[in-house]
Amino acid sequence: MQENEGRMEVLRFAPSPNGWLHLGHACSALFAWETARALNGRFLLRIEDIDIGRCRPEYETAIYEDLAWLGLDWEQPVRRQSEHFADYEAALKRLRDMDLVYPCFATRKEIADAIAATGIPPRNWPADPDGAPLYPGLYKDISPAERSRLMWEGRSYAWRLDTARALAKAEEIAGAPLTFIEDGEGPNGETGRCAVRPALFGDVVIARKDVPTSYHLAVTVDDAIQGITLVTRGQDLFPATYIHRMLQVLLGLHEPRYCHHRLIRDTTGRRLSKSAGDMGLRELRAAGKTPADIRRMVGF
Ligand code: GLU
Repeated sequence: MQENEGRMEVLRFAPSPNGWLHLGHACSALFAWETARALNGRFLLRIEDIDIGRCRPEYETAIYEDLAWLGLDWEQPVRRQSEHFADYEAALKRLRDMDLVYPCFATRKEIADAIAATGIPPRNWPADPDGAPLYPGLYKDISPAERSRLMWEGRSYAWRLDTARALAKAEEIAGAPLTFIEDGEGPNGETGRCAVRPALFGDVVIARKDVPTSYHLAVTVDDAIQGITLVTRGQDLFPATYIHRMLQVLLGLHEPRYCHHRLIRDTTGRRLSKSAGDMGLRELRAAGKTPADIRRMVGF
């Protein structure tokens, strides 16, 4: 790991309290905590609870309990995203003022219908790195009058990034094609200075219909506000860094380095998900496993 020119390194683990922690989380949390220790740095815990419908207080309590049981400690106070919507709204406003986002009134059904209307079978429609169909551009080019009419009617809307325009603007600001520094490895062995390819995501939602932010916006703003110098997380989030790096340039935020780590898989090679109950830390603990066993299971 490259030293940070004498500055104190700041790392974080940022779980979402929408399920119980499993071995995959333990791997990520231990990776960040151990790396912070090795670099003599600080370790922060952040609760990513913007998803008001799915996050539950008992999951948050369990995060604190499970991490403490694993032997981790972290600084106080813990930043909870649901308490900072004003920060994300300010960032969204900046993007609006730069004319890089547009309101999108589309429902899931409208998007599916628009894709069906192209005659291209849905399985052949391009998907983003998370597997979601690329947005077909509905409501992107409607007139200001039409936009006002829909708002007056009370139709709910998300804010989408005009990704091509945003990338062009970010490259103009940076004066060069955008890159980020990967200290670990992406899913295809990417390392060192990596090019960003946000077009893979199409026009992403930057603020949802129900909350004035999205994962991409909140994580980028928080990593900057908290002074994170090294973002560690699973390789599944490697492509998301394309969006985050672009947002950093557009919003004038500092550039952290990144270190993506390999994902824990179950015995069939499937990536662990929140529904993989058998790998839940609570279940493993109840079955008599110790923190040392968990470290061995995740390779520490
Ligand atoms: N909250 C995200 C998750 O639980 C992680 C965000 C990140 O590390 O960038 O998957």
